[in-house]
Amino acid sequence: MKIRIVPALEDNYMYLLIDEKSKTCAAVDPVEPKKIQEAVKEENVELTSVLTTHHHWDHAGGNDKLIELMGKKTVYGGDDRIGALTNKVQHGDKFQIGELDIECLFTPCHTSGHICYFVNNKEKTQPAVFTETKQRSNHETTIPSTIEEELLYNPFMRVGVESLQKKVGGSDEIDTMGKLREAKNSFKPPQHKI
Ligand SMILES: [Zn+2]
Repeated sequence: MKIRIVPALEDNYMYLLIDEKSKTCAAVDPVEPKKIQEAVKEENVELTSVLTTHHHWDHAGGNDKLIELMGKKTVYGGDDRIGALTNKVQHGDKFQIGELDIECLFTPCHTSGHICYFVNNKEKTQPAVFTETKQRSNHETTIPSTIEEELLYNPFMRVGVESLQKKVGGSDEIDTMGKLREAKNSFKPPQHKI
């Protein structure tokens, strides 16, 4: 598994999720399709899919243009408001990008139809997660925490994990999310300076 980070707009990120074995990839929230097209070309892989976290324009706003530019793709997302959506997903849905396993996690924190995408390789040794929490700071140049760290440290990404539910006393994902939001003020995601 290879993840390429592509800066977008003023303060956002897009990602290419690449399965190096099959040389296929998915674009995550490709709001600037031209940059995605260039990155795909550089990586010498085939773009098959789009993973959309939520419907806001700065994440889903490039979907239609990307398809115009690069042809028909399978577009995943959890909200009917997402442009060019072909496969509406729900919590627990699973699919593959090449040989990578993707699992959808419904996380209605930021918008009502927000989906996180858990990714792992066949050997289950490289867990990663894609979510909307990535914003670049205005005053310092940062790159996002590695996706693996995000999964380890960010409780919002782990809301579906049974042990975490128990820890915060949540009875299900929604309840757990509520309890985590109460604790949000004390939580700071890890960031790395370049
Ligand atoms: Zn948003």
